[in-house]
Amino acid sequence: MEQTEQPGFPFLGDRNRPRVAVGAGQGAYDNARTALATWDLSPASGRRVLLKPNAGRIAGPGAGITTHPQVVAAAIDAFREAGAETAVGESPICGVSTMDAFEATGIAAVARERDCPLIDMDARPFRKTPVPDGVAIQSLRVCPEACEFDIVVSIPVMKMHMHTGVTLSVKNMKGCLWRRSKVDLHMLPPVEGVDDKPLDIAIADLSGVLRPDLAIVDGTVGMEGLGPSAGSPKPLDAVVVSADPFAADAVSCALMGLDAHAVPHLRLGADRGYGVIDLGSIQVGPGDWRRFALPFASPPTDLAMEFPDFRVLDRQSCSACQSTLLLLLERYGSELLDYFPAGASPAIAIGRGHTELPNGTLCIGNCTRKHRAVGVYVAGCPPVSSEILRAVSGEPRSDSQDGRPSAS
Ligand code: SF4
Repeated sequence: MEQTEQPGFPFLGDRNRPRVAVGAGQGAYDNARTALATWDLSPASGRRVLLKPNAGRIAGPGAGITTHPQVVAAAIDAFREAGAETAVGESPICGVSTMDAFEATGIAAVARERDCPLIDMDARPFRKTPVPDGVAIQSLRVCPEACEFDIVVSIPVMKMHMHTGVTLSVKNMKGCLWRRSKVDLHMLPPVEGVDDKPLDIAIADLSGVLRPDLAIVDGTVGMEGLGPSAGSPKPLDAVVVSADPFAADAVSCALMGLDAHAVPHLRLGADRGYGVIDLGSIQVGPGDWRRFALPFASPPTDLAMEFPDFRVLDRQSCSACQSTLLLLLERYGSELLDYFPAGASPAIAIGRGHTELPNGTLCIGNCTRKHRAVGVYVAGCPPVSSEILRAVSGEPRSDSQDGRPSAS
């Protein structure tokens, strides 16, 4: 419980030996309260606290896609009891209404019960924020609330991620980027002389300027496999709290059966001194926390392995188009095959990095527009399943599950 407030880091204590608390086995609300109870939140008294969950898409509680509402409820209650003024904010992928996402995730209900404001962080103009140590990016368009609140709390859900290995409290801050500017991070050119993907470098860059003051990682039900939105729910019944988001993510990785050093954006950020990921330098409580670990299945390195009937051509897509494609193939893969010549493996392309595509390719999303002459092109950013099926079949189609996927 002992922590000495450092300027700019109200809850951190010893930044070289950060503390992490794990609450587990008691359900979402009590896990979060147990872990938060080991923290002195009194520096938040009289301050404005922005709670930033992952509510980036339309998904219900327990699906492992968005933050469990009871973890958000616990955060509201804990900070209120510490004398803080709280609000919950989000900026989802374009095409998703923030307030619809808050309703679907159950976060709106718990916020309403507590008379806690919900903020659509895309509603007001962005703040252009320099990234002084940026390697892949030099500035960001940031939602104004992320700059205006005294304290920002990142409350992600514990997920594997096709593009970035995992998405936890560091990457969740990408949801503070304004509107479509989130997508820009997926479209960066390679950084000369650096082997890491530009997206991973950009997230490390971002973590130098959008650092949450507290991380509350929701592992109530996480997601394994094809995260961030098309994987399988993974019940873990754990919540991880730390004032060092890198330490919180490192312990979360360990609970997921991963080494944080194998997650490029965490390794890169830690190498720059933004946080600590060496478990030997992190004080974790309770001492037997590793008994809560449950390995998460990794995302496939190649989507084509998951869907061998198709040739999935993915170059520099963002997770919104990837989620669209995964959901389409999961729900309608066998039907889609009927619209292509028998015996062929239809090519489907997403992303803007293609130089050429085979004839007959199904080109999904605005990023593939320049190749539209080679086959069937479906505009949208991203398009939804019904639009793709309509384009392929030539008939009006509907899909009751059509919701815009999120780039989380
Ligand atoms: S078209 Fe698809 S890959 Fe391109 S920016 Fe839009 S969602 Fe991302």
